[in-house]
Amino acid sequence: MAQTKYIFVTGGVSSSLGKGIIAASLAKLLQARGYRTTIQKLDPYINVDPGTLNPYEHGECFVTEDGAETDLDLGHYERFLNVNTSQANNVTTGKIYQSVIQKERRGEYLGKTVQVVPHITNEIKERIQILGKSGDYDIVLTEIGGTVGDIESLPYIEAVRQLKWDLGDHNSLVIHLTLIPYLSAAKELKTKPTQHSVKTLMESGINADILVCRTEHELSDDIRRKLAQFCNVKQEAVIQSIDASTIYDVPNLMLEEGLDTITLKKLDLPDDTAPDLTQWNQFLQRHKNPTAEVTIGLIGKYVELQDSYKSILESFIHAGAENEVKVTIKSIHSEFLDVDHQNSVISSLDGILVAPGFGERGIEGKIEAVRYARENKLPFFGICLGMQMAVIEIARNVLNLKDANSTEMDDCTKNPVIDIMESQKNITQMGGTMRLGAWDCELKEGSLIEKVYGKSQISERHRHRYEYNNAYQEQLEAAGLISSGINPQTKLVEVVELKDHPWFIGVQYHPEYKSTVATPHPLFIDFIRAAKVFSQKRK
Ligand code: GLN
Repeated sequence: MAQTKYIFVTGGVSSSLGKGIIAASLAKLLQARGYRTTIQKLDPYINVDPGTLNPYEHGECFVTEDGAETDLDLGHYERFLNVNTSQANNVTTGKIYQSVIQKERRGEYLGKTVQVVPHITNEIKERIQILGKSGDYDIVLTEIGGTVGDIESLPYIEAVRQLKWDLGDHNSLVIHLTLIPYLSAAKELKTKPTQHSVKTLMESGINADILVCRTEHELSDDIRRKLAQFCNVKQEAVIQSIDASTIYDVPNLMLEEGLDTITLKKLDLPDDTAPDLTQWNQFLQRHKNPTAEVTIGLIGKYVELQDSYKSILESFIHAGAENEVKVTIKSIHSEFLDVDHQNSVISSLDGILVAPGFGERGIEGKIEAVRYARENKLPFFGICLGMQMAVIEIARNVLNLKDANSTEMDDCTKNPVIDIMESQKNITQMGGTMRLGAWDCELKEGSLIEKVYGKSQISERHRHRYEYNNAYQEQLEAAGLISSGINPQTKLVEVVELKDHPWFIGVQYHPEYKSTVATPHPLFIDFIRAAKVFSQKRK
């Protein structure tokens, strides 16, 4: 196909309407018709990337194969499309300004005054077109973070306006996602906020081509007609997005509403093949018809905010469907998990996952949870910091190294069983400097982890500064903690597992970033299988 087509997704009325899910659902439908699609997120904040943001601020930081620390929406894109994203798929205002200022310092603007228009907007336009120009995609969807009317979104909206003009007819379109609130006192859905937000978009020179309306109640024909007339779109371009019980229903809901059909029509693309959602619907079928149930304790310190562990929660949904098991997640705050609370909280679980994290807060609770899982042969899954906690627990309670710790928490400990990586020692800048992205790992022959993957060479994504200290390897192995996954170049220990335990695995990497609907992650699948076995024994 000659010309890459561009779809821009903007939001109005309110934040948190789920632009990412709508973009991912439409991309899924287009992909299921044979179009090569990708999705990009533009974030209007000044951080260069969300890597330096606290999860309470921004939810999980998603990591791509090429080591970009990105917005969690990229996780949705990968989980829906089963296609990797990259550095180019997440752009922030910080990145845009950083690059414009660097160009200015290099003298590339040849003495001109550097301004928001055209220099910032040109930089945005270039970033939008990088994916399209790669030749890898027929359709690029670009989600613009924030809500129209926000001061910080203005350069993005202007860049979209210009790009629509540059690309010419039928090569781009704008989907505007809004909220149709329901006033229960009046028993009415209200269209006025949407009319205002479409008007705001028009003031910036952009006509929405398609309206996607989030609503808790069905939109009547009358409401659809009114929205079409007052927002300047065809009635078939008013798409209802009613609340769904799972985000994975949204592609089918959008299909019923004809979002893909109207998109293809507006982009002048053939609409001759129906989307093939066979595999997707098989997953939904399994997800909605479980034959058993397990309860997993998610032990972390950001549990108040579900978005902090987004990819882990979604990985459990994929793995649950694969096992035809309903996975109920019990979020447990590691700060409040002490010996007294343990029996009542953990004893009702079929498995525990100790979550990734940074800093000292809550780590003693995590270590206690590991101890309980080890002693009670409860399936245990540790990810990143969770793996490090397992190493510390065994050093303290089996090897009797009472002050064993990570130098992240106590840099004076006499037993630094987890220590800063050599390559991290001289790093002073915090942004983008961790060990990031995909690294190879070799799995030990005959280990549980090798059985789980069904192969011995793997590659997984990382995000950390500290590591298993190889000086303690002999002692830890003698205590039963096997190093069953090693990076072949650096010899870093990436996986530990416990002998004589049905399922006790800690991984230094983040398997949750690679679980998708089409390819659920083997570690999550097998952990849920083990939890099911545990729950059946308990009964
Ligand atoms: N804080 C730990 C480290 O930097 C673990 C990081 C994580 O869990 N992602 O090594």
